[in-house]
Amino acid sequence: MANQNDKFKKVISHAKEYGYIFQSSEIYDGLSAVYDYGQNGVELKNNIRDYWWKAMVQMHDNIVGLDAAIFMHPTTWKASGHVDAFNDPLIDNKDSKKRYRADVLVEDYVGKLDAKIEKEVKKAAKRFGDAFDKEQYLATNPRVVQYKEKGDAILKRMGKSLENEDLADVKALIEELEIACPLSGSRNWTDVKQFNLMFGTKLGASADSAMDLYLRPETAQGIFVNFLNVQKTGRMKIPFGIAQTGKAFRNEIVARQFIFRMREFEQMEMQFFIKPGSQKKWYDYWKEHRLKWHLSLGMGEDNYRFHDHEKLAHYADAAADIEFRFPFGFKELEGIHSRTDFDLSQHEKYSSKKLQYFDHEENKSYVPYVLETSIGLDRMFLSVFSNSLVDETLEDGSSRVVLRLPAVLAPYKAAVLPLVKKDGLPEIARKIVEDLKWDFNVMYDEKDAVGRRYRRQDAAGTPYCITVDHDTLEDNTVTIRHRDTMEQQRVKITELKDIIKKEVDVKSWLMRM
Ligand code: ATP
Repeated sequence: MANQNDKFKKVISHAKEYGYIFQSSEIYDGLSAVYDYGQNGVELKNNIRDYWWKAMVQMHDNIVGLDAAIFMHPTTWKASGHVDAFNDPLIDNKDSKKRYRADVLVEDYVGKLDAKIEKEVKKAAKRFGDAFDKEQYLATNPRVVQYKEKGDAILKRMGKSLENEDLADVKALIEELEIACPLSGSRNWTDVKQFNLMFGTKLGASADSAMDLYLRPETAQGIFVNFLNVQKTGRMKIPFGIAQTGKAFRNEIVARQFIFRMREFEQMEMQFFIKPGSQKKWYDYWKEHRLKWHLSLGMGEDNYRFHDHEKLAHYADAAADIEFRFPFGFKELEGIHSRTDFDLSQHEKYSSKKLQYFDHEENKSYVPYVLETSIGLDRMFLSVFSNSLVDETLEDGSSRVVLRLPAVLAPYKAAVLPLVKKDGLPEIARKIVEDLKWDFNVMYDEKDAVGRRYRRQDAAGTPYCITVDHDTLEDNTVTIRHRDTMEQQRVKITELKDIIKKEVDVKSWLMRM
């Protein structure tokens, strides 16, 4: 655990030191669970968004984009169920006065059981060596089976209690499991209460005509209310999708995990409109497709897993998360939800407008079913950033910090370094930057010894360093050094563009899907 904490602390401090993420309003001691993206962070974030947009919108003939406003008519949230049901169960510890999400306390307890299972697996793998069969071990080892059954039973019970609004049983569960407040260590809990996560605000200048509004807690509703606009003007045929990225706001009860859980964050969502009855097929399709998108980034298959929901949201008939191994354990990164016709039917009801599709093949109108994929851009950022940060020991015993970002996402693709600040080398280096910057984000760096500059670029995640030296003056060649292998190659200046392109081209990354 201490190890995990250390790693997470390193991620946070590295993100700050290298201009990725700053605490919001830091000079005023910050604002809780709100963050700003710095000069490198904004590039990485944009690149992740573009990678998603390319894969989800531009590579699909039947998916189009949208950019709906953050403010929406307040009835939207009545219809969607958010006013009545967008709650989290909260519980306070009377001694520390700290507030927790009751479901998260229980999930963390189960997470500890999972960690125990993982530990047993690791031990057994060591003991049995090549003969180790993980599946069989998980299914037969009595201790592991017991942990697993216990965890499943706990989650099932909590799922049922939350579904039935039986908050007393959630509290009972916390007491039975003897869960203590991590801060005070006490088990002196209040009752569990529901807390609505939407931020309210007002639209309009004069007090009496002002209208109560909410900041949207998800981007999805902007898609639903525009369903017919897009379908008709885009002449879309079912199945088709509408995708958008944008800010969402939630007054999270507990937000202590850096950009994992923020009060202002960004979502990348796609709603796929389908024929009623075909939801199982599309659910399976999008689960697999989205996992492939993640795997295309090459961050390790073992770092992902599916988690099927026991407790379904009010709108869903099936739901799964793609979980990622964050520095603090496996947690939700993306949700895939089969939303039925819930949203469109609700908006029909509340707006008294028909939100239906005329299916020429079937010769009838219906309210389409919806399959949703929903991922937090900031969470995706954290998964990429934390997984890439590595403390490496080199062959000569020295060490280096390297941010092995997938090259397609790296803020800068190359840094161009004159070996010394004289003899015409800076001029050539600047000329190379001028040429390359039409195609890639590149930077010029002449400060400090070249070794220091290499290390700085390694830590910032730049895949290539290009060094201009005195030989360049003679033969127009430069040294290109690769961040991960640290290999150096002598190449012609005219070859640089192709070499970099090969490594960072979106096509070659997405083709791995
Ligand atoms: P959680 O259970 O972690 O609160 P959720 O199930 O409420 O998440 P969804 O409503 O399904 O999340 O939102 C879809 C995605 O949006 C999540 O998978 C996550 O990546 C992202 N997300 C949700 N809430 C936040 C938040 N407070 N900060 C950052 N990202 C978030």
